[in-house]
Amino acid sequence: MNDPIGQTAMETKKGIPVSSGIAFAPAVVIDAEDYRIPRRHLLRSEIKDELARVRKALADSAAGVAKLRETATEKFGRQTAAIFDMHWLYLRDRNLYREIAETVRDQLVTAEYATSIVLRQKALMLLESADHYMADRVTDIYDIERRILHNLIGEKREDLSHLTADVVVIAHDLTPSQTAHLDNTRVKGIATDAGGRTSHSAIVARALGIPAVVGLNNITALVTGGDELIIDGTRGTVVIKPDQPTTDQFRQYERELISLGEELRTLRDLPAVTKCGTKIQLLGNIEFPHEAQTCLDYGAEGIGLYRTEFLHLGRETEPTEEEHYQAYRKTLEVMGERPLVIRTLDLGADKYTQARAAAPERNPFLGCRSIRFCLQPDRLPLFRRQLRAMLRASAHGDVRILLPLITTLTELRQARMILGEVSEELDEQAVAHRRDIPVGIMVETPSAALSAPIFAPEASFFSIGTNDLIQYTLAVDRANEHVASLFTPANPALIKMIRDVIKAGRRYDIPVALCGEMASELEFCLLLLGLGLRQFSVAPQAIPSVKKLIRASTLQHAQRVARRVMDLHTDRQILHYLRRETRKVFPDLV
Ligand code: PEP
Ligand code: MG
Repeated sequence: MNDPIGQTAMETKKGIPVSSGIAFAPAVVIDAEDYRIPRRHLLRSEIKDELARVRKALADSAAGVAKLRETATEKFGRQTAAIFDMHWLYLRDRNLYREIAETVRDQLVTAEYATSIVLRQKALMLLESADHYMADRVTDIYDIERRILHNLIGEKREDLSHLTADVVVIAHDLTPSQTAHLDNTRVKGIATDAGGRTSHSAIVARALGIPAVVGLNNITALVTGGDELIIDGTRGTVVIKPDQPTTDQFRQYERELISLGEELRTLRDLPAVTKCGTKIQLLGNIEFPHEAQTCLDYGAEGIGLYRTEFLHLGRETEPTEEEHYQAYRKTLEVMGERPLVIRTLDLGADKYTQARAAAPERNPFLGCRSIRFCLQPDRLPLFRRQLRAMLRASAHGDVRILLPLITTLTELRQARMILGEVSEELDEQAVAHRRDIPVGIMVETPSAALSAPIFAPEASFFSIGTNDLIQYTLAVDRANEHVASLFTPANPALIKMIRDVIKAGRRYDIPVALCGEMASELEFCLLLLGLGLRQFSVAPQAIPSVKKLIRASTLQHAQRVARRVMDLHTDRQILHYLRRETRKVFPDLV
């Protein structure tokens, strides 16, 4: 247990491993606004001074608002300036001080931390309110929080892209743009309270090769800035203030992982072919063009999923057609003749748009996401810009278009129609492109999976997105650490869907790939081979181990495994069985 007096006991926490490797470095603790919240726990003797800091910060914040109100009244008139009345009253309200002070006193936490707790609770209550007017007031609460934190902390924000020493970043959660801007030469590890294996910050951590553990629940409350930490992103462990014997053990484990990695790298130029001679296409998933080279270095035969929404991160404006085009060209330069599957924008849900939306959706994963977002009349220009860039790039390599979150045939037809129009437009302008560019769909909703035979005649290929397919089939939020144990590819319903999608692909003679994280989880590899999957698209770092497993397997064994799994009824039974069978061909399985 962490004690409030700030003693130095070692503590070990288990979370969800999302990006493998071991990191040793002191912690930096940040909040969502990049404010560093340096110290969580207080001595009792420090309470009095801390409360004085709260009073001063509230008074300074109220004075700041009063000044703003004055300026706004002069410039825009009394009515417009009225918004600041509410902020001023809020900051002057004794109840706000009382609640923050009680939190400082009861939980022995700093003024910054207590402020965040109290105001985030208020924001949450407003967000859950059925009254739209109330829900809209949330931005006011965030504004007030930022103002108080500013007065407590000053201008200084943590800039994770310009660090001067090695650190491990500790946060409640990291937004995709925060993660994308991490300086991966300095950020040695990441540990967060929230998140799951397929949350987007986990995906970016893997892309950057930073060891990461998420879903730790309360790591931000246990760690103080400067604490020495070990992050074991392979097994999902975080050690706070490790003692020497523990550090030595982890150093030894790190050496073993490095030598395993070196052994796997020797497979780079060997084909992904089973022992009995069946050829498997092993592709990489990327978020940034520079990862294309990483994929080749790890032995990929092409890119099976390029997630283009990352082009939107960390910027105020939408990418232009030229920016899209340049990113695709850069990737193609590396890929040469190899296939490059580019997915159209999967914006919405937890990505980019929600953070900026004027009215955040109540249930964004069921909302205006992905293809739905792109097909909205006011978003069509954005969609067309991307399609134009993709088509232009298709003149320079084997580009294929992948549409995300398709749930109805109408969406596929609409998207194809718009693509046709864009192609005609390019023809009129005499711009070179491939008119018969392959257009595939992500099979990542139960609707698409169950209707695969309906989609197959109109799609050039399928790519099964298990991250979302699990989420939507099992009704488990992929980024919610509280239900992370329910998020598993070992679910019998999911496996049946995958089987049937592969069958439909066979029947209609279209390729079927699997690009969700399941493809890189070694215990599922035999099962997928046995179900007939012949294209695996995985994070670059996972390529060597998946290849090693494929090369150690036979189709006969894989098919026997798949048949047996179909007779098992619980995810536990399935997982146990798959682990046992996988160890027979891959004894290094963690
Ligand atoms: C998926 O859903 O499995 C997938 C690959 O897409 P993303 O993780 O980007 O939603
Ligand atoms: Mg998806």
